[in-house]
Amino acid sequence: MIDGFGRSIDYLRISVTDRCNFRCTYCMPEMQSFLPQPDLLSYDEITTLVGRFINHGIRKIRLTGGEPLVRRDIAVLINALGQHVKNGDLEELTMTTNGSRLAQFAPILAAAGMKRINVSLDTLDPDQFKRISRGGNLDTVLNGIQAAKAHGLDIKINMVALKGENEDALIPMVNFCAQNGFDLTLIETMPLGAGVSDREANYISLDAFTAPVREHFSLHALAHKSAGPARYWRVEPLGLRLGLITPMSHNFCDQCNRIRLTTDGKIYMCLGSELHVDLRRALREGTPSHVDTLLQTALRLKPQRHEFENQFAQPDLRLKRHMNATGG
Ligand code: SAM
Ligand code: SF4
Repeated sequence: MIDGFGRSIDYLRISVTDRCNFRCTYCMPEMQSFLPQPDLLSYDEITTLVGRFINHGIRKIRLTGGEPLVRRDIAVLINALGQHVKNGDLEELTMTTNGSRLAQFAPILAAAGMKRINVSLDTLDPDQFKRISRGGNLDTVLNGIQAAKAHGLDIKINMVALKGENEDALIPMVNFCAQNGFDLTLIETMPLGAGVSDREANYISLDAFTAPVREHFSLHALAHKSAGPARYWRVEPLGLRLGLITPMSHNFCDQCNRIRLTTDGKIYMCLGSELHVDLRRALREGTPSHVDTLLQTALRLKPQRHEFENQFAQPDLRLKRHMNATGG
């Protein structure tokens, strides 16, 4: 799949549920409503769509959400998609999770052929963790991470930079990741979703957030590219690989290779745009070939770049969709 700007699209993120057992302050409001069950794509519908996507050139899939591991019987979907990895149709199946259910699911992920996962962790301080996630238990997440490590999964920690909240958590996180052999990726907050009041006040550029790392250690730019938008650095002498995702301060859209399937079956061509096509309707009311036609339409809708900077500056331009529905 080549879009209107010559970018090759081979990476699909699937939000398997918009529900979550956390309410991270930057992601969603405390009182969040979720989609009714019939609106969700069933596992059969997701696997049907994935088959079509693979025919169109998708090679990498990340399961996300909401929290993917809270959807009932998620192992059924993980195993079904894992078959595509085992028979070589997919290069990689990965997941982004908050880690709270990893102790239970790590063996299932490993058995399905997952090699690596991203775990979101914004601090190693239990009280700060509870505050940011609105109720999460740090020990449960850390146990889950160790279970994933014990099952041979490579782990990348995702940490959202929050001004006035977790700046002091960065150096402990850098040391924790280096000691455990994890990668660390830092993310700037994006203006997605209504009702998240502190997000703009909490925004800090990664140039500013990472200043203490540059003070204590030396950073060397790496040529390494992952499927995602991060730029990578090696932190010496720790040997840590540090990824920086800077949607706000350093645009990366010219390299974008991603599309997103929402919980209710829409394909969004960009996290920062409302342009989409409705594949669920095509599946439920049309024919499978209708899905293929819509995918070609969707490719033409992919914008050149997101407009997060304008959306930050002008509240009336902000997208109503939250990160959990589209899939981070
Ligand atoms: N629940 C899983 C988790 O937290 O890893 C997967 C879904 S979550 C929406 C995916 C990623 O998006 C997480 O790393 C989270 O920190 C990040 N995220 C959520 N809202 C964000 C926002 N407004 N700006 C930047 N990153 C955000
Ligand atoms: Fe849940 Fe992930 Fe959003 Fe936190 S970032 S509320 S864990 S979906």
